[in-house]
Amino acid sequence: MNSLFFQITSIFYVLLIIAVYFSKKRVDTIENRIYISLLIINLLNLIVDIASVYMGIKFPNLLFTSFLCKLYLVFIIMWVFTFTYYIFVISSPRNYVHIYDRENINYFKKTFFALLIIFIFAALCIFILPLDLYSNGILMYTYGSSAIFSYVTTAFCILVWVICMIFNIKSIKDKKYLPVFAFIILAGGSSIIQMTFPQILLVTSAASFITVLTFFTIENPDIKMIEQLNLAKEQSEKANKAKTEFLSSMSHEIRTPLNAIVGFSQTLVEDETVPENVKEEVRDIVTASDNLLEIVNGILDISKIEANKLEIINTEYNLNSILKELVVLTKTRIGEKNVEIKTNFDEDIPYLLYGDQLRIKQIILNLLTNAAKYTKEGFIFFRVNVVKKDNICRIIVSVEDTGIGIKTEKIDKLFTKFERLGVEKDNTVEGTGLGLAITKKLVELMNGKIVVQSKYGEGSKFTVAIDQRIVSENPVQIKEDKKIETEIKDFTGKKILVVDDNQLNLKVASLLLKKYGVTIDTANSGFECIDKINDGNYYDLVLLDDMMPRMSGVETLKRLKEDENYKIPTIALTANAISGMKEKYLNDGFDDYLSKPIEKNELDRVINKFL
Ligand code: ADP
Repeated sequence: MNSLFFQITSIFYVLLIIAVYFSKKRVDTIENRIYISLLIINLLNLIVDIASVYMGIKFPNLLFTSFLCKLYLVFIIMWVFTFTYYIFVISSPRNYVHIYDRENINYFKKTFFALLIIFIFAALCIFILPLDLYSNGILMYTYGSSAIFSYVTTAFCILVWVICMIFNIKSIKDKKYLPVFAFIILAGGSSIIQMTFPQILLVTSAASFITVLTFFTIENPDIKMIEQLNLAKEQSEKANKAKTEFLSSMSHEIRTPLNAIVGFSQTLVEDETVPENVKEEVRDIVTASDNLLEIVNGILDISKIEANKLEIINTEYNLNSILKELVVLTKTRIGEKNVEIKTNFDEDIPYLLYGDQLRIKQIILNLLTNAAKYTKEGFIFFRVNVVKKDNICRIIVSVEDTGIGIKTEKIDKLFTKFERLGVEKDNTVEGTGLGLAITKKLVELMNGKIVVQSKYGEGSKFTVAIDQRIVSENPVQIKEDKKIETEIKDFTGKKILVVDDNQLNLKVASLLLKKYGVTIDTANSGFECIDKINDGNYYDLVLLDDMMPRMSGVETLKRLKEDENYKIPTIALTANAISGMKEKYLNDGFDDYLSKPIEKNELDRVINKFL
């Protein structure tokens, strides 16, 4: 019975590990499932081991004793095969897979069935082949072809382990392989002991030791922590979504009153009867509201970028006219400062390019605005060069200034949102720190590049390169079209219906439209609009706000279009000026789109086009 000492001790610690292992919640991975099998096989193996030794001593000649001994050998190779499968799984890059992960589980299943077939074959052989239980009157399992066969099978499996490890040589230092090395050492050690003291049976105890050792190498993250993490992730995703929605609705809410401010002040600036000193102040209101609009747009853009919803909308456009417009805008931005803007535009710029003109404009304007903001005196050099290859035109824009410059160590932070580097030096400059973060994202979305060179105290140079497709090099035809669009005519006799739920907005629109000489009618809701049109009122144009309670603009238009005779050009009006909106409204059946606050030039364009 002394020879059972190791088995009985093993049973204790295997039971202990089983208790510990099952008392904790686990992630249901394939690795864990195999380990459960290892534990169970190991326990059964120990029981059969003890039973066979006991029977061997008490009833050596029973057929059942011989059966138990063979069963013991079968359990040993079953453990070895399971361990082989375990090593195969941990050596695979997909090892940490969840049991419900179908695709990956199928990958492992094939190996499982292959090993299972070999195992069944080996088990049959062990049962069929003869086993000599006694040698010189001492009970042992090491003699006879059945026992030898089980050794050969074990050797075959060890070979598979070594192959697995060679294939996975890079992660050989991984603690997961520790039991493998331990097994090889133990197997050697126990063979020597077994040879010296044949009556001491060590194989199962060695396997038990390895099973216990494996317990400490299995990655079993705290399941509770994972659940908490998942919960936290879910909550933060919800919060992020709520934030995006909040920002988008806030920017809509801010735009509506802003529309009134911009609209009224613009008309006051143009009003001849307003005295010049008052106009001066009204101009400040316009500038301030423009700044506010810029901030609102920035916030909207950054939340779009974060939600991965910012799209690039490509259309045909004329780069030269954008550049001219940008110079005018920059001059306004420089204002009274002693800063000169120098330009150098490549004469080879094609007349029509294909790309997102609004975003291109936004990118360059951001750089120019920054140059204007951070330069007290000197110059801003605005250069645009093109490199053409086949039908692709690389636009290289550089904006150089003699401004405050950026410290070398701070350049890395430049494109991080909400980072404002110059603030400690000059906190009179307004800004949000969003501009360059948005600019960089936009450039990247267009597969372009942006680089910065700067010397602190001397100035900065931002260069952007973006590829655009060339539509046409020829300016003649388009010039004519442009001309028609921007020239304002008198439209006396034409009638426009403006639909908006907000009284102030109706007033602003009416004010802005007055200069075209048109007759204006208004409606407070989609219902009123439909009624007015169905009552037989004729309009040459309908400006229809989208975001109205009860019936949206899109819905209103849909109802109007149910009547096939409805042919009045209808323009969507919205404060939700996210990029991509134009396409959305065109898809919804609108003829064009105007964002609030309504821009004068845009209104001119639309009026000219549709009246
Ligand atoms: P904002 O200008 O709104 O603060 P930006 O993202 O456009 O935000 O710029 C981030 C920071 O980079 C600015 O606060 C400023 O410190 C620095 N910066 C950007 N452009 C220039 C420039 N041309 N010269 C000096 N500093 C600049």
